[in-house]
Amino acid sequence: MSSASAHGKSGIEPLKLIGLLCTIAGLTLFTYAIFSGSFLLDAEALQTASAKVPADRLELLEPIQGREFGNQFTALKAIDAAINPDGNLASYNLKEYKFWLLNAAAEGPVKSNPWLFFLLTIGLTSLGGILYAMPGFNKLPGIKHDGIFFNSSMNRGLVGILIGTYLIAFYVLLYWKHEYFVNAVLLVEPLSQSLRNMVADRWFLYGTLYTLAVCVMGVRMFTKYRHNRYHLIRTVSVMFFQFAFAFSIPTIMERLNRPSMDFKNAWPLNYTFFMDWNLNTLLSSGNLGLFMLFWGIILTVVLVPVLAYFFGKRWYCSWVCGCGGLAETLGDPFRQLSDKSVKAWKAERYIIHGVLVFAVVMTFMQIANFVSGGTWFGNQTWRVNEQYSFWIGAAFAGVVGTGFYPLMGNRVWCRFGCPLAAILGMVQKFQSRFVITTNGGQCISCGNCSTYCEMGIDVRWYAQRGQNIIRSSCVGCGVCAAVCPRGVLKLENTTPGERYNVVIDDEIMQMALEKTNTSTLQVN
Ligand code: SF4
Ligand code: SF4
Repeated sequence: MSSASAHGKSGIEPLKLIGLLCTIAGLTLFTYAIFSGSFLLDAEALQTASAKVPADRLELLEPIQGREFGNQFTALKAIDAAINPDGNLASYNLKEYKFWLLNAAAEGPVKSNPWLFFLLTIGLTSLGGILYAMPGFNKLPGIKHDGIFFNSSMNRGLVGILIGTYLIAFYVLLYWKHEYFVNAVLLVEPLSQSLRNMVADRWFLYGTLYTLAVCVMGVRMFTKYRHNRYHLIRTVSVMFFQFAFAFSIPTIMERLNRPSMDFKNAWPLNYTFFMDWNLNTLLSSGNLGLFMLFWGIILTVVLVPVLAYFFGKRWYCSWVCGCGGLAETLGDPFRQLSDKSVKAWKAERYIIHGVLVFAVVMTFMQIANFVSGGTWFGNQTWRVNEQYSFWIGAAFAGVVGTGFYPLMGNRVWCRFGCPLAAILGMVQKFQSRFVITTNGGQCISCGNCSTYCEMGIDVRWYAQRGQNIIRSSCVGCGVCAAVCPRGVLKLENTTPGERYNVVIDDEIMQMALEKTNTSTLQVN
């Protein structure tokens, strides 16, 4: 008997199938769009690029002016040789120049029909995601994971590996090879023009895709959680904060030609906040800039710890944060893949606190440099910023944090890397009212809670002992409580000191010993 029939599945529903086909078609066309078209480096293209590329570099392109290239590989090779003859141009600048030159020189289906291609790629994929989720509304409410470990996409099977590879490739192109991503950015050009009145760049593309992913997969969460008010409101919350705070408000501010900011993104997750260019921008932007500076500091110094005292880490990680929002929606199908071993728990503590130390040292250097006018650490600050951006901001948070969803679960970044989560975790562990209480007598040791804990916490271990769960890594998603068939677990707020009921450990031990002694006596 096949695993599918063993689990009572009678095949895929028609709407789901249509959704799946739309998603596959949209993604295939998106991939095609990236490599489509040709590139004509004529006078008009150079004129357009002059807004982003300095004149002395444009002059170097004279020998290849007027040439047409069949794809971005040949175009980039020729531009590279012409624009950087001595090889002394900083890598970041070189990539930026190449990106804007190709952007201006692009010709072909995407450039000629951007709205059509936008609808056929990003639009079709989003529609497919929604259609795929819709049949969930016809099922009985409740969180069901039937056959999840027999599903190739959700159990590190071939489909999961392919999804992970696609995501990783996407992040590598976005962060480090964006000159090859010109056509993908052109897909959102009309959207960028109509919303921001600005030319699209890779970060606008990323913000659009990110927000769509949270909202589309949020619909899936509605089908799954519609019996549970806590999870419904939580899902609406992450969708709202992503759509309004991370996407809409910064977009409106850009349209108004004002400095833009994600007002919910607290330091040190927002590691660019204290960089000199950001501080200079805010200080030179009048009262609005001063307010943004004030807000960023108050958010970090007051709101984050105070709200963590009252509600634990969950107020941020499971209700507000963009990374958490993506993890709880796009990443939800992979939550059971988190490593529950003690080895992973140990690694998590070293790595996340290591990243926090790195962020604190970098920020100290940033502020010291800003205050001293660049005399304290000089170029070292820039070098440290660069290393942090590369290793933590891009490689860890992006490539590993999201690309590895289908391989390591949906909270790799939150669990192992986020320095803000490390701070919230310390408050939660030592001085917070939040606790997960357990009614140990009811536990049947089914293990559902541990399986679906995205932070790799062995919840059952605590439940079996009737012990409260106070773990700095717990993001308070509440899924352990929602999947428990016996109502053992409860997310609660209480007095900080009274949360620790480890004494129950001793009591349980005592009872176990007494029981053993009694049965030994009876046997005797
Ligand atoms: S212990 Fe429960 S609430 Fe905490 S992260 Fe795990 S599943 Fe979520
Ligand atoms: S899901 Fe509930 S019954 Fe099952 S092991 Fe966890 S606490 Fe016990």
